[in-house]
Amino acid sequence: MTDCLFCDVVRNGAEAANRIAEFEHSVAVVHFQQAFRGRCILVLKPHYVDVLEVPGDVHAALNDDLRRLGRAVRAAFRPDRINYSNFGNVEPHVHWQLIPRYRDDGYWGGPPPMPETKLPLLADATYREIAEKIRSKL
Ligand SMILES: [Zn+2]
Repeated sequence: MTDCLFCDVVRNGAEAANRIAEFEHSVAVVHFQQAFRGRCILVLKPHYVDVLEVPGDVHAALNDDLRRLGRAVRAAFRPDRINYSNFGNVEPHVHWQLIPRYRDDGYWGGPPPMPETKLPLLADATYREIAEKIRSKL
């Protein structure tokens, strides 16, 4: 454990229930909150706080990973659109959240409410199932 959650996520093994895939410069995991089915996070492997610090070639590769993961989420869950967020307020380690949005999600037309930390966690098997569904479309 370190004091950075996402550095720990990067180091966690492929056996983690929510691990989707590892790319050259990033790791994709299922977000523990699934109010928006298929929500996931793409974490840059090296620790940088701000995208402006990331070397250009690494950022370009991260962008490619983001697009690849987004296509897989779209193919797996058929959302009406995907929201992409890169705030870094809670976890200051460069990452992207991919939030599938659905016309009937209750917040269509506006930003998704975050964080939804009051929702209960799901069973590991459910995270594995979501991860596999996305992984199968990569
Ligand atoms: Zn970190």
